[in-house]
Amino acid sequence: MREPIVLDGSRVAAGIKARLAERVGRLKERGSSPCLATILVGSDPASATYVKMKGNACRRLGIESIRVELPGTTTTEELLGVISRLNEDPAVHGILLQHPVPAHIDERAAFDAIAIGKDVDGVTMLGYAMNVFGAAAYPSCTPAAILAILDDYGIGIEGKHAVVIGRSPILGKPVSAMLLNRNATVTVCHSKTANLAEMVALGDIVVAAVGKPRFIQGEWIKPGAVVLDAGYNPGNVGDVNYEAACRNASAITPVPAGVGPVTIAMLLKHTVEAAERAMGVR
Ligand code: NAP
Repeated sequence: MREPIVLDGSRVAAGIKARLAERVGRLKERGSSPCLATILVGSDPASATYVKMKGNACRRLGIESIRVELPGTTTTEELLGVISRLNEDPAVHGILLQHPVPAHIDERAAFDAIAIGKDVDGVTMLGYAMNVFGAAAYPSCTPAAILAILDDYGIGIEGKHAVVIGRSPILGKPVSAMLLNRNATVTVCHSKTANLAEMVALGDIVVAAVGKPRFIQGEWIKPGAVVLDAGYNPGNVGDVNYEAACRNASAITPVPAGVGPVTIAMLLKHTVEAAERAMGVR
């Protein structure tokens, strides 16, 4: 078997950001600056790092970023109040509530409080439903990133059997719907799936969204399959046993520098599009 094509997320992200920089410039000429508000509740170090990375990515592209940091003792009502104020602020175009929030907060209620026009991270139930109908302005960023990588490399989706491992509302479920909308035949696996190895072996396209380091075994991968590893575990490790999967895959995303950078590029893209809509230029 030949070495697989390594699907270079950093290159795909750089292309998206280069195109966005021109659009940010045009918005600024019209007196508008795209602005993403991030909300971090509590002091989880990984979440703090993610929020910081997203803010830095915004700044590098000339997108404003407002960081709202709330103590871990914040109540659901207080968080809803913050989201409501950001919803009403015309200078804010996108709102990102960093997941997970402390357990005592009703995270679903908080996500759903985000105005649909500012749901650039694709976390609301309405945004999810629109995505299933193929009508979302801003699908969840990681699923959008996975499709962007396939499209960038010209990897066809229609008629392929896609196997998605994971069914979370921000990743497994929306990417399954998006692949289905692009005419893949989709199998969705989860923790109660029987014969996971046999299911994965059906996939022409395999999307790993499990949250368990190196969980998807290389020998499960059908020879010639395309593997997209959305996993991001401590130690910069994906959900796929990369080295072993390389023996069977025809193309594969590495971790890091695979799905992750394109996910951030999608967040920036959605924020710029929200600003363009606010200016009436979309
Ligand atoms: P999640 O909410 O924990 O969902 C994990 C999914 O995996 C669940 O649907 C679960 O099934 C399934 N699962 C767990 N154990 C399994 C098993 N033994 N066999 C088959 N399925 C199993 O995680 P998530 O938020 O979707 O994230 C998944 C991964 O993607 C994580 O590594 C996360 O860090 C990464 N991620 C990366 C990005 C990025 O930008 N690259 C963004 C978001 C997330 P049940 O539903 O039955 O419990």
